[in-house]
Amino acid sequence: MQARRAITERERTDVFRRLVAFDTTSANSNVPAADDLAGFLSDHGCRVDRFASDDGQKVNLIAHKGPQCEGGLLLSGHFDVVPANEEGWESDPFTLTEHDDRFVARGAADMKGFVAIAAGLLADIDATQMKTPLVGLFTHDEEIGTIGAQQFCKQWDQRYPLPTAGIIGEPTELQVVRMHKGHTKLRIDIAGTPAHSGYPHLGSNAIEKLGRVITALTALRLEFKSQRSKTSEYYPETPFVILNQAVVEGGAAVNIVPGSCRLTVGIRVLPGQKSGDAIEAVRRALRTIPSLGGDVSLTLIGDTPPLLTDASTEINKRLSQHVGQTKTVAVSYASDAGPLATMGINCVLYGPGSIEVAHKPNEFVTKDQLNRAWESLSGLSRKWCIG
Ligand SMILES: [Zn+2]
Repeated sequence: MQARRAITERERTDVFRRLVAFDTTSANSNVPAADDLAGFLSDHGCRVDRFASDDGQKVNLIAHKGPQCEGGLLLSGHFDVVPANEEGWESDPFTLTEHDDRFVARGAADMKGFVAIAAGLLADIDATQMKTPLVGLFTHDEEIGTIGAQQFCKQWDQRYPLPTAGIIGEPTELQVVRMHKGHTKLRIDIAGTPAHSGYPHLGSNAIEKLGRVITALTALRLEFKSQRSKTSEYYPETPFVILNQAVVEGGAAVNIVPGSCRLTVGIRVLPGQKSGDAIEAVRRALRTIPSLGGDVSLTLIGDTPPLLTDASTEINKRLSQHVGQTKTVAVSYASDAGPLATMGINCVLYGPGSIEVAHKPNEFVTKDQLNRAWESLSGLSRKWCIG
């Protein structure tokens, strides 16, 4: 057996650099990046299991160290990143570039910096001393609707007990976040009858019908805006359900009465609310539109549940205490924590970097935050799993 030695900062940075070098934009396969990380983790004594998507192009990776027993701690991050084809990059987005106090790259903040830390912690911790396991879960396709995490909820076959405490390393600037809104995506298809525009009496205009749908959903948005829930107080700027009429598609040519069109809508319910209630409100709003009848259909295309982790859970109490945080922090973006919480894992978000820079050119994470995240998570995971 190989003698155990601590993981150095250089080794952590090397893992980070290699992760960044794989272009894991959600449209691409994450398998090469997962293979590389799996190699590092198994070289350092972790049991690594893979759960592939049906087409084999995507993989969720789960790494386990320590005894296979109840308890322990889960660290989770996603492989995928948003596209890096915006203007304004001053260095190659897929090369980890050092600039004085920071690392710049696509995914530096969201969230390969954290993934490298989680992998480093798994490698670093001494299995022979552990009383409960440390588990790393690395997902695909978070950025396009927490698809990997939702898959994992279905794929997981209980081959060993999963921890009921989890830290998801979204870039929170090292704040412990125990609430986030959900994100539900709906598609509304409107049917009309196409016709030559010189003979409009032979057709029925789908876009005119969509106009009425948009008006009704705008009224619903304002109704949502006037309503409050138990967690509204944590969202001073947006204490309500958000409804965004986001994408309109339809029409063929200026001389054709449009036979169909489509509206995509995003809804963000508050922590503690159910997306089903908001979807029902959309259905009701559509039903109030006169003479639309069967010409409108609604399809649910994505649903990330909101996160509401109780303040009294062990993970929230211990991590908050460990980093000296007393106030509750809530965010408006959805994350893998929403689906993972449905598996009985009490999750908080905590990670280096800022969401403000996350989906922008020259995305960065400061070395100071990376080091502080390493120190705090290293201390917590030791206390948690070794005692
Ligand atoms: Zn993220």
